[in-house]
Amino acid sequence: MKRFIALIMKDVDNENETKKVAVQMRFLCLIFSIFFLIQAIVFLIFENYAMAIQNFASIFFYLLGFYMTYKGHTNGTRLFLTFFTLFWTFLYVIATGWDSGAQHFLIVVMVFYCVTSYASLARKSLFVAIVCICRLLLYYICHNIQPLLPITSAEQSILQVINTIASYMALAALVLLFTKDSLEMEKKLINYNKRIELLANADPLTGLPNRRSMTGRIENDIAHAEKNGGFINLAIGDIDFFKHVNDTYGHAAGDALLKQLSKIFMETTAGKGEVARWGGEEFLFMLPDMNGDEAQSFLDDLRLKIKRTEFPCEGNNIKITMTFGLEEWGIGQTYDKIIEAADEKLYYGKEHGRDQVVF
Ligand code: GH3
Ligand code: MG
Ligand code: MG
Repeated sequence: MKRFIALIMKDVDNENETKKVAVQMRFLCLIFSIFFLIQAIVFLIFENYAMAIQNFASIFFYLLGFYMTYKGHTNGTRLFLTFFTLFWTFLYVIATGWDSGAQHFLIVVMVFYCVTSYASLARKSLFVAIVCICRLLLYYICHNIQPLLPITSAEQSILQVINTIASYMALAALVLLFTKDSLEMEKKLINYNKRIELLANADPLTGLPNRRSMTGRIENDIAHAEKNGGFINLAIGDIDFFKHVNDTYGHAAGDALLKQLSKIFMETTAGKGEVARWGGEEFLFMLPDMNGDEAQSFLDDLRLKIKRTEFPCEGNNIKITMTFGLEEWGIGQTYDKIIEAADEKLYYGKEHGRDQVVF
């Protein structure tokens, strides 16, 4: 069974042809082959040998179509299956009468062509119109002449059941295979977009949100606080003499330090606020749910923690300090103004001994 499924799901040889279409065709060919086999048996029981022979011939043609899908002739196979199915449906309905229900296969052909072909919308519409005219023509013929075959109404009823089941199965196989692929593609696209969005919003070295994504969040929070009130504290933290770290231990050690530092920031701010990589060795902290004094005390604890930490980087234990400029948002204050104020305070801290939180 596994080998049989693998055979049906096998990819096509031609690089410019899709597996999906070939699989849809294989399903159609198999369903029709089984259908004709059952029909052939039924016609043998009815002692209608001419129809039974035709059914066996049809099995041969559908198996030929099945084989063609492995030989990289998807376009040829599509045309062959489309017109062959149209052809026998037409003959079948005229031979066995409208009540045998074979006209359902016209809908199968229509859907088959539309879901497996890459033809233009105009071409597909034209095909749908042709199939529609065929059906109306058949209806007209069947209601004006008797079935060509001497067939009883009981036999017609049996054929109606077989034709209905086979046509609905073929239709379901086509539509389910078609939607399965589109849904899978859609799911892949959604995940892909999520990943792209994540990459676009994150800093690749530290994994922290980048300036772009943080700016959006802060602006949203300010808009929210303008309406509903609340605290927003923004602080810019900058590593002191980081150039010296790079110059002494190398750029790779500097990178390793930035990563470890970011991890500490994430752990410390979890549940209390957010942190982003603002620029090279600058980080932005957003601390809601606390007033300015509390934010200052929080940042001072963080500053001391960093000062006491030894960062193992590329075989060296590096110690650093940081300076922070903190600004508490007040009603009417814009995003640009808070950042500007935090930056000025950071500059003040750098000018006045570093290793401190300026509020
Ligand atoms: P200050 O105390 O005044 O802030 O001194 P500083 O040396 O930290 O400041 P300066 O602006 O002179 O230098 C910042 C250094 O940060 C220079 C730059 O090479 C380094 N830097 C920025 N981004 C990265 C990075 O992604 N990796 C590494 N290793 N270094 C970085
Ligand atoms: Mg700097
Ligand atoms: Mg610095």
